[in-house]
Amino acid sequence: METVDSVVVGAGVVGLAVARALARAGREVIVLEAADTIGTETSSRNSEVIHAGIYYPPGSLKARLCVAGKHALYAYCAEHSVPHRNCGKLIVATAPDQLAGLDKLRAQAIANGVGDLRALTADEACDLEPELRCIAALLSPSTGIIDSHAYMLALRGDAESGDTMVAFKSPVSRGSVRSDGIVLEVGGTEPMTVLARSVVNSAGLHAPHFAASLAGFPTAHVPPCNYAKGNYYSLSGRAPFSRLVYPMPNQAGLGVHITIDMAGQARFGPDVEWIDRIDYSVDPRRADRFYAAIREYWPGLADGRLEPGYAGIRPKIVGPGEPAADFVIQGPAEHGVPGLVNLFGIESPGLTASLAIAEQVIRRL
Ligand SMILES: Cc1cc2nc3c(=O)[nH]c(=O)nc-3n(C[C@H](O)[C@H](O)[C@H](O)COP(=O)(O)OP(=O)(O)OC[C@H]3O[C@@H](n4cnc5c(N)ncnc54)[C@H](O)[C@@H]3O)c2cc1C
Repeated sequence: METVDSVVVGAGVVGLAVARALARAGREVIVLEAADTIGTETSSRNSEVIHAGIYYPPGSLKARLCVAGKHALYAYCAEHSVPHRNCGKLIVATAPDQLAGLDKLRAQAIANGVGDLRALTADEACDLEPELRCIAALLSPSTGIIDSHAYMLALRGDAESGDTMVAFKSPVSRGSVRSDGIVLEVGGTEPMTVLARSVVNSAGLHAPHFAASLAGFPTAHVPPCNYAKGNYYSLSGRAPFSRLVYPMPNQAGLGVHITIDMAGQARFGPDVEWIDRIDYSVDPRRADRFYAAIREYWPGLADGRLEPGYAGIRPKIVGPGEPAADFVIQGPAEHGVPGLVNLFGIESPGLTASLAIAEQVIRRL
């Protein structure tokens, strides 16, 4: 049996940020990843937006780590030449009954430490984005976009410049809690057994399954595992917007928004589709709903310009209709197992918050 100081399960953006932080703290780290490369699940299936920190209840982990993570991420991107753009975003009200919601969002943003939102009239918003239709808007200057794959490559390189190894095709099938650490059974092409002093469960959609597979882990601390797919449609041809445009959020998500990748390609999404099993296909029959949602704020969208794009899946720890849950960063103080940190429900804004989440994990270890 191999013995190692720390294991991170999962090489998504959060697992890689955690590995980097552990390596910087002088720890020996093995990242065990089931796939054959980094970031093949949620970390490569999202909107690639650097969120400002507007939408989350004040004091929540999502609010605090989004704001801290945003500042850390902009600094990291600048230092490591990760392609990103601080393009800003507009949140638009398209009907009078949404105006109070805009005010509420602005107040919440201020409470979260995001004091730079500007309220715009319809004319001011249309001066910025002439194809937009709205009755009022908020401008968020600190929102941006990032090349998430380049970011993950930088994190991996950083981690590996310390005492870190990333092992691909290394699915952890189960484990057990012992007095001297946590034993992990690793399958794949070269099966092995590893004893680790610390384990960080950063398995994304599979994190509850992994925790449940650890003999000796109290099952009462394993949250429910639900999947909410977010489908995207891409826009053929050039987008007429230079900023991101978001409708008012609803209970299930942030609404079908326009986001632009670093190559200038525009995509719309994500919607919300609750599913029972992991399935990334995008049903072309959802197009009608996308046209209708987008035309609320971009009436000039012509027929035939949307094409099914890709989908990501939110790792939900609550079910449909239930109030949104916060990130769960569960350490020994919560579950009683020394050396183990579980990351549950790391949905949006997990990419933005990744560096701040990693700091929290280090504190709990
Ligand atoms: C539709 C959508 C849009 C989003 N948009 C944004 C956005 O614009 N901005 C933002 O900040 N956040 C956004 N997010 C959130 C963000 O994408 C996630 O929070 C983040 O990618 C989570 O990263 P992760 O490393 O926790 O998980 P993942 O990327 O899912 O990585 C988990 C890894 O663990 C591996 N793994 C799982 N089980 C095992 C095992 N047993 N053994 C070994 N390896 C295992 C998997 O193969 C995978 O590589 C969005 C999320 C979704 C779903």
